[in-house]
Amino acid sequence: MTPKERVMSVINHQKPDRMPCFGANSTVSYDQMDKVKAYWPEGHEKADVMAKQAMAAHTVLGFDAVRVPFCQTFEAEALGCVLKPGKTPSGESIPGIEHPPIYKLDDTPEFPDDFLSRGRIPALLEAVRILRKELGDDIPIVGGIIGPFTIAGSLLGTVQILKASIKKPDKIVPFLEVGVKAGAALGKALVDAGADIISCEDMTASPEMISPNTYRDYAMDYQIRQFDAISVPKILHICGNVDPVVGLMGKTGADILSLEPKASAKLAREKCGPDILLMGGVDTATTLFMQSPETIKEGCIESIENGIQILAPGCAVAPGTPLENLLAMMEVVKGE
Ligand SMILES: [Zn+2]
Repeated sequence: MTPKERVMSVINHQKPDRMPCFGANSTVSYDQMDKVKAYWPEGHEKADVMAKQAMAAHTVLGFDAVRVPFCQTFEAEALGCVLKPGKTPSGESIPGIEHPPIYKLDDTPEFPDDFLSRGRIPALLEAVRILRKELGDDIPIVGGIIGPFTIAGSLLGTVQILKASIKKPDKIVPFLEVGVKAGAALGKALVDAGADIISCEDMTASPEMISPNTYRDYAMDYQIRQFDAISVPKILHICGNVDPVVGLMGKTGADILSLEPKASAKLAREKCGPDILLMGGVDTATTLFMQSPETIKEGCIESIENGIQILAPGCAVAPGTPLENLLAMMEVVKGE
C-alpha cells in the first residue's frame, strides 16, 4: 500500500497493511532541519522552506503523511494579531501572539474579506501546492487550522477569554464567530491547494482550561460549524486530558480524534462508539522528548493496546526531540 492508501483505508474503516503513523500536530525537529537544510524562522514564513521541512516527516522519519504549518498563529496574524518571534534560549521555536491582545471584550471583531491574502497564509497555501507537486499523489498532506475557541483566545488574550467564559460568556460569541469563519476559510483553501486531511487544533478548548459546560455551550457548536465547511476527512486535536468532553468531541463531525496519552483512549472508544478513529501515542514533553527509544516503543504499544488506530505524537513535537525517538515510533508500526 502507498501511505495514502494506508491512511485512507483506516479512515474508511478498512484494514490497512499496517498501522499508519503521522502527526496531527507539527512533527518538525532540529535534527530534521539539519537533514533537509531548512530552518526556522524561514520555515514559518517562506513556502519553499516550509514545504522542505514538512516533507522531512516522510523523507527523514518515514511517516505516512506530511503536515503544514508548524505553529498556531496563521489565522490570528491574518486577523490582525501581532506575532512574537519564536526565539527561545534553546534556539528558534514557534511564533506566538504578542501582548497586549488587539481586542477588548466589548469590541466587535471583524472578519476581513481579504483574509486569505493576509499575513503568511499565501505562503502556507503555496507550501501545500509545492508539497503536492513534489510528493505526487501517494503521500497525504495534512493541513492545519485552529479551532474557533483558540482563535477567539488569540484575539482577546487567553486570560481574558478564560475569565469571560465564566463571567460574561455571551460576550465571546462574536469572537467565536470570527474564529469559525477564519478556520473554515483557511481549511477550504488548504483543501483547494491540495490538502487531503484537515487537522484542527483547539488548544484553549481543553478541559484543563475551560469547564465541560463551557466546552458544550461555547466551543463544540463552533467546531461543528467549522468542520461542516470542510469536505475532506478531519482530525480534532485538543490538548491535555479531554476525558470530561471526549464524548462531545466525537459529535463535532471530526473523523479522527487526536488524543494525548493522558486522555483515556478506552473511554474515548466507549463514549464515541466505533465510527470515530483514535489517533495518538506517547506524550511529547515527558516521553518523546526525553526518554529512550525503548521507553517510547513501550508507550506506543500501550496506546495501541488501549485502542489507538493511528500512531502519532500526542501533541506537537518539541523541536529538540532526538531523531531516534521519532524513528522508534515507525519501528513500532513496522513491527521492528
Ligand atoms: Zn496538543
